[in-house]
Amino acid sequence: MEYTSTRGQSKKLSFSEAVAEGLAPDGGLYVPDSLPDISGSLASWEGLPYADLCFEFMKIFADDIPEDDLRGIVRASYLKFDDGRIAPLSKLDDSLYMLELYHGPTLAFKDFALQLVGNLYEYFLSLSGGKINVLGATSGDTGSAAISGLLGKKNVNIFILYPEGGISPIQERQMTCTGASNVHPIAIRGTFDDAQAIVKQLFGDLKFKAEWNLSAVNSINLARILAQCVYYIYAWLNLPKGERADVRFVVPTGNFGNVFAGRLAGMAGLPVGGFRIATNRNDILWRLFNSGIYELSKVSPSYAPSMDIQVASNFERFLYYFLNRDTAGVREVMEAFKRDGKWVFKNFDPGIFSASRMSDGEIAEAICEVNKKYGVVVDPHTACAFKELPKEGTKVVLSTANAAKFPRLIEKTLGFTPRSPSLEALMDREIVKETFDADAGKIRSYIEEKGIR
Ligand SMILES: *Cc1c(COP(=O)(O)O)cnc(C)c1O
Repeated sequence: MEYTSTRGQSKKLSFSEAVAEGLAPDGGLYVPDSLPDISGSLASWEGLPYADLCFEFMKIFADDIPEDDLRGIVRASYLKFDDGRIAPLSKLDDSLYMLELYHGPTLAFKDFALQLVGNLYEYFLSLSGGKINVLGATSGDTGSAAISGLLGKKNVNIFILYPEGGISPIQERQMTCTGASNVHPIAIRGTFDDAQAIVKQLFGDLKFKAEWNLSAVNSINLARILAQCVYYIYAWLNLPKGERADVRFVVPTGNFGNVFAGRLAGMAGLPVGGFRIATNRNDILWRLFNSGIYELSKVSPSYAPSMDIQVASNFERFLYYFLNRDTAGVREVMEAFKRDGKWVFKNFDPGIFSASRMSDGEIAEAICEVNKKYGVVVDPHTACAFKELPKEGTKVVLSTANAAKFPRLIEKTLGFTPRSPSLEALMDREIVKETFDADAGKIRSYIEEKGIR
């Protein structure tokens, strides 16, 4: 299978090449050049354990990796989960389910992709004998999940930028208390978008990128998107057969990686009735899907910090398919949006997407209400999903983090502190980080000082 850039001006790559490349040289994101049809395979995937399903799916896309090697990589990636089902589907109510995506080592859904990406990198480097510096920006959970995926791996250094004060103290500890010498957490005086802009700028400097063998793990990486398709298929296969005809996935959304993965699974043949994009007060996507106007506004910190994003990087992948793979059209929209901070779609048709948004007050209320109604404790990101649930079909809410990652808010709303032994163990460890202004030059110098090559 070949992978092509959403902007159509880079050469097509194999899976391994596209994963190593991250952002395409023309500024676009890699997508499969043609989509397989998995609908005929679903019956034979019935009942597969998670890692086996993941292997069956990934081998279609990662077809330049020998199958035995890929099987080993995939199996190793789901060993650190604390539930043997990996992504348990729990029933909350009639036609309402919750897909628990928080059983990985950092207790958020990003582990699904980043444990796999860490093992893929290690594998590629063992073949090539090369060294890489991984560079990414995080609004909270990506950084800790990336670090967990790459922790102590040979020939990899990892630099993760995050907004200082913009992530929860536990998230910060997950990144800064690892004790691993290949991990370099960097607090930026600015927002997540500032951090992401620095990452984009450094990747855009092709000479610097080549010199330091920079690689991305943020949600633009193709392997992450593909790995995330798997739990949509797994959820669908774990629903009672009579409830699979019209499945509405409700997805707490920030960078659009998670919901786009679902969309990709749908385009590849998984029967999906709809996607609900659940946002917090940073509602650019809510506004787009309700008005057809894609317009930047300021990022404002919320109770759901991993969704405090305005410019969703995976939006470009959505756009590519939305415009029927018209790469010139993608370039036009992305350039205009970069220039004007706004694009108005004519006759915008949201298709099977809809969107909701929640203020902080509503998030707190939802945490209480969900607890009262269904007896579960949800984190503030998952809480956003419970606004205006779709009326029709089987609803599957994606629960993206363990509530124990947000003890203060849960304490405030429910009056008790959810506990997690693995998080409590972090509290006694030393924090190791650097703090910089939002200045790409400073970060570049730091990488030159601490990177490997
Ligand atoms: C990253 C994250 C999200 C947003 O996911 P995207 O793929 O960026 O849309 C939602 N909830 C949690 C807990 C996250 O860590």
